[in-house]
Amino acid sequence: AKAEGRSGFVTFSPAILSQIDMQLGEEAGIKRALNCDEFFLVWQPQFELATGRMTGTEALVRWRDPVSGAVRAPASFIPIAERSDLILELDNMVLRKACVQAARWMPITTEEFVCSVNVSAKSLQADAYLTHLTETLRQTGLPPSRLQLEITEGIFIQNSRDALESVGKIRNIGVSLALDDFGSGYASFGYLADFNLNQLKIDRSLLSDLASSTKKQNVVRGIIALANSLGLTVVAEGVENEAQLDFLIREHCHGAQGFFMSEPVEERLMTNYLAARQGG
Ligand code: C2E
Ligand code: CA
Ligand code: CA
Ligand code: CA
Repeated sequence: AKAEGRSGFVTFSPAILSQIDMQLGEEAGIKRALNCDEFFLVWQPQFELATGRMTGTEALVRWRDPVSGAVRAPASFIPIAERSDLILELDNMVLRKACVQAARWMPITTEEFVCSVNVSAKSLQADAYLTHLTETLRQTGLPPSRLQLEITEGIFIQNSRDALESVGKIRNIGVSLALDDFGSGYASFGYLADFNLNQLKIDRSLLSDLASSTKKQNVVRGIIALANSLGLTVVAEGVENEAQLDFLIREHCHGAQGFFMSEPVEERLMTNYLAARQGG
């Protein structure tokens, strides 16, 4: 990356400088977008397979460019935000918006209806996170039992002592925790024994070409059995066709999420879904 200049000073190549420039420019853009409230949430329903009922929904962040009206997907800005402390602000903003909305849906949902929010490892480990979480729940009036945070296993591998503490505190206030993207990363899952989680979300990479791959079917079966044996619910992500859904039903996977049932939708459409199944 850096090279020793002739004088002994560290010099940066133009390529690196322009990379830093770009990162700073992108960060400034995110900062401005946070101040101008350019982020909004879309919601993807989650279904219980045994009953076909919608039992929850996941909040996914979007960035609307105020000039062009174009909508940016999180892959284009979350990684940039994660390289700085902006992710803390962004995750806090998402949590607040999600709790406000989830509280508004309470009159048309049952007690089991849970809203899920993604949290970066960096945010979860920040000292102020728990205070912010508690405050947000208090201010929005959302019961903790109606909120689930989705985290990825990276947190357990990087700093398991801090992670154990954060997870314990979150569970203590009554908020649920799901392990996102399970099966996409590390092969070790000894940490599952140490952490008090509620749900495993099977990564969508394991569902692609499920029908033609007996091995993938066995991996998914194995994850469902693992979740069952640990007392966790298990939800498959990225269900795009009927064959995948049928397989998951046959294997007694608890829940499913994916384009086959519904894409992530804007708040109003989600409200319509909920109103249509009133009480269900
Ligand atoms: P994720 O948490 O795994 O979210 C699921 C992603 O899969 C979403 O993409 C969703 O639109 C997409 N998806 C859902 N069903 C299907 C399907 O059937 N097929 C396919 N191919 N894709 C499907 P999205 O919204 O672009 O989010 C991408 C990632 O960005 C998320 O992955 C999550 O890691 C991150 N993210 C989203 N919102 C937030 C947030 O508020 N905070 C943080 N820290 N990360 C977020
Ligand atoms: Ca997620
Ligand atoms: Ca996921
Ligand atoms: Ca993810």
